[in-house]
Amino acid sequence: MNKVTERATGSADSERRVDKIIKRGSIMKKCQKCKTNEATILNADIGDFCLDCHNEYMAELLGVSITDDFSKIVSFYDAEGIMHQFEISNMIMPGFSVWKAEEIDGGYHFKILLKPEENRAWAIEQLHHKILTGLGYQTLLRWLDRNFIDNAIHLNNEQYSLKSVGTCRIQYSEKENISLVMDGKEVSLEDFGRALTAFEGFNLDFQIRDLSDEVLGKDAVLHRVSINPNVIIERFERTLGWFLEHNFLSYKYKSACEEALFERIDELELLCKYGSRDNAEEVGRKMKRRLAAIDNDTDDFPDYLLEMIDQTIRKNKL
Ligand SMILES: [Zn+2]
Repeated sequence: MNKVTERATGSADSERRVDKIIKRGSIMKKCQKCKTNEATILNADIGDFCLDCHNEYMAELLGVSITDDFSKIVSFYDAEGIMHQFEISNMIMPGFSVWKAEEIDGGYHFKILLKPEENRAWAIEQLHHKILTGLGYQTLLRWLDRNFIDNAIHLNNEQYSLKSVGTCRIQYSEKENISLVMDGKEVSLEDFGRALTAFEGFNLDFQIRDLSDEVLGKDAVLHRVSINPNVIIERFERTLGWFLEHNFLSYKYKSACEEALFERIDELELLCKYGSRDNAEEVGRKMKRRLAAIDNDTDDFPDYLLEMIDQTIRKNKL
């Protein structure tokens, strides 16, 4: 009798579904448009294309222009002054555009999701910025001491310990099993576990995030934030209170007020991602109703904030 095994996976987002249609390791098939390149994107509805032809097809379908005049290979220095080379790629799908930077001969991966109609030069800038931020942060601390350290992570004749705050990408393949990629280096679970013994007796919090989420940058720590809907609304009201006088917002405080409320909208985004969808939509509606009821002498308050709230809810819809 065959034993059926299943593997649990994290909540699927639309991009992960896209990954599934990218063929890996099976028989090579030619792209049906250029008839030259290997078809890497297989889609029963539209056909089998190479990435360039797929993007051309999608761009036409969505009515966006794609002039690919960006450098496909870019290099950046990390915090230790070591250069890393990345291959940049873009894939357009209905509703979103995926930009990836994958390290050549290394383990760093960065990704951003934008709208297909977004300016491509700006998209590249965002991706470069993310690479630089990510490279500026280090999870592993290199030991300068040449003595053998028992619970260090040993990689390429160097010894590393873990910082108390860190980030890594979870890597799994049936052949190689599971490992964690830290600072672009592959660390086995066993080595990671041993290095953790340096913190024996401490707590380890964790939060798994999509690759397209913000990365940790220099001098960053993780901060605990409540995503209880009542707490979010309470903080929203308190922030408004700094700028309102008898429910009136003067044009003088408009931009400061908007800026302060961005943080509250960030909390709404966390609720969307990690809490219940219904709660998030309800909090979004409450925020919008509250904003619309504010008297003001500006030209366009709270249009921008309303749009941001809608966007936050929409962006995080599965
Ligand atoms: Zn092609």
